Amino acid sequence: MRIDGGCHCGNITFVAEIDPEKVTICHCTDCQRLSGSAFRVVVRAPRDKFELRGGKPKVYIKTAESGAKRAQGFCPECGTPVYSAAAENPQEFGLRIGTIRQRAELRPAKQIWCRSALTWAMDLRGVPQIAKQSG
Ligand SMILES: [Zn+2]
Ligand SMILES: [Zn+2]
Repeated sequence: MRIDGGCHCGNITFVAEIDPEKVTICHCTDCQRLSGSAFRVVVRAPRDKFELRGGKPKVYIKTAESGAKRAQGFCPECGTPVYSAAAENPQEFGLRIGTIRQRAELRPAKQIWCRSALTWAMDLRGVPQIAKQSG
């Protein structure tokens, strides 16, 4: 599936080819912190199918518990997280689906790192729903 997207301020844009069946929710504590939210939703694009356009992302290198180093690409102007990839010679990019224009069509197929999930984030059905901002 052909997708396109970009950061909030428009500095960074990209196009990619992804498999819409491979959308994953990650509940790991790094994703909670790096996304600034309860969990992160990611879809992978092979290196040769991901093309950055416009500005150049700033890259933060995160070292995992395992010692693996991951590059976290984000917009230096507005801070939107755009992708993660192996720090050296990446073969694929994990795109943050909030940046993808077609995100409503990208339904997650699995959830990982559920042992660190925020329990309330696993079931939001009981939370009152308001169409726009709460008064
Ligand atoms: Zn931006
Ligand atoms: Zn994670």
